[in-house]
Amino acid sequence: METKHGFTKMSAIEFDKWLQKLKVARTVLYLQQHHTYIPSYEHFNGSNHFKVQLGMKDHHVNENGWSDIGQHFSIFPDGTVLTGRSLERTPACIYGKNSHSICIENVGNFDKNGDDMTTEQRQAIFDISASICRRFSIPVNTERIVYHHWFNLSTGERNNGSGGNKSCPGTNFFGGNKVEDCKKHFLPGLRKALKQNPDPIPEAPAVNRHVSVRASVLNIRKGAGTGFDRVQDRAGAIRGAILRVYREKNGWLKISSNKNHWVAGNYTDTVSPATVKATKLNVRSGPSMHYRKIGSVTKGEAVFIYEEIDGWCRIGHEERWVSKAYLKV
Ligand SMILES: [Zn+2]
Repeated sequence: METKHGFTKMSAIEFDKWLQKLKVARTVLYLQQHHTYIPSYEHFNGSNHFKVQLGMKDHHVNENGWSDIGQHFSIFPDGTVLTGRSLERTPACIYGKNSHSICIENVGNFDKNGDDMTTEQRQAIFDISASICRRFSIPVNTERIVYHHWFNLSTGERNNGSGGNKSCPGTNFFGGNKVEDCKKHFLPGLRKALKQNPDPIPEAPAVNRHVSVRASVLNIRKGAGTGFDRVQDRAGAIRGAILRVYREKNGWLKISSNKNHWVAGNYTDTVSPATVKATKLNVRSGPSMHYRKIGSVTKGEAVFIYEEIDGWCRIGHEERWVSKAYLKV
């Protein structure tokens, strides 16, 4: 392991150990796969990982005006992985669909006639994705493992690549960028990588309730009160993050099942998890059919309900409403 410019470089084996120990407050439900397109293989010389990663960060911060590099992880042609954005932060990778996601950028151009993916990178993509699925209990299906290509670029609506989409992660990414290609070529390899770890997949401990963070950054403390020190080994929780609550005391919430990590409950809103039942469910700017349609969510998608008015549910801090009749609560 080597750290430079705030990025840590690891092998897939080191990554698995690092990730299993890492405490993450934010609830993670989705894993996104991307290719970088540029930089591609011609920009990687076998040893300039940090320079390539820093180049992406500079572009994201200085050209795009983002707060940090967009992705959580970059997987290189030699099979190594570099950390990027903190896992406590939502990535900037699929417009409109970044909440509750981890974003992997696979370095290369995997469109047809682009780069030929190396065996090392192929295996690392499977192994690293498997470590993430195991750590966050992400089921291996095309509702939770998603390609950028499946979302409309300007609305974030899932249309499975039927118009207004990027080709990312590439028309030749594990046999293609369609949902069927993912089912046929990518998910079987991911399942195989998951099985290669002999440890049983840990059961997620029972959660009392879920809350959403309202403060811009919510400190995590070693006990239930402002008199306790902030924990040193993890960053604060960020606005919009969904936290799991395991215990409560005097208005404070314990957000780790096995560590004394607490946050002040008055900077959070209680939310309830739900799943979309309709094939495509319109999202509106207010709680009735009369409000403007501003997007959609699709069958199997996980959402969190913040508020309910007359059979309509608000599914974010902002005004995003769907009819409750099409949710499985
Ligand atoms: Zn992408």
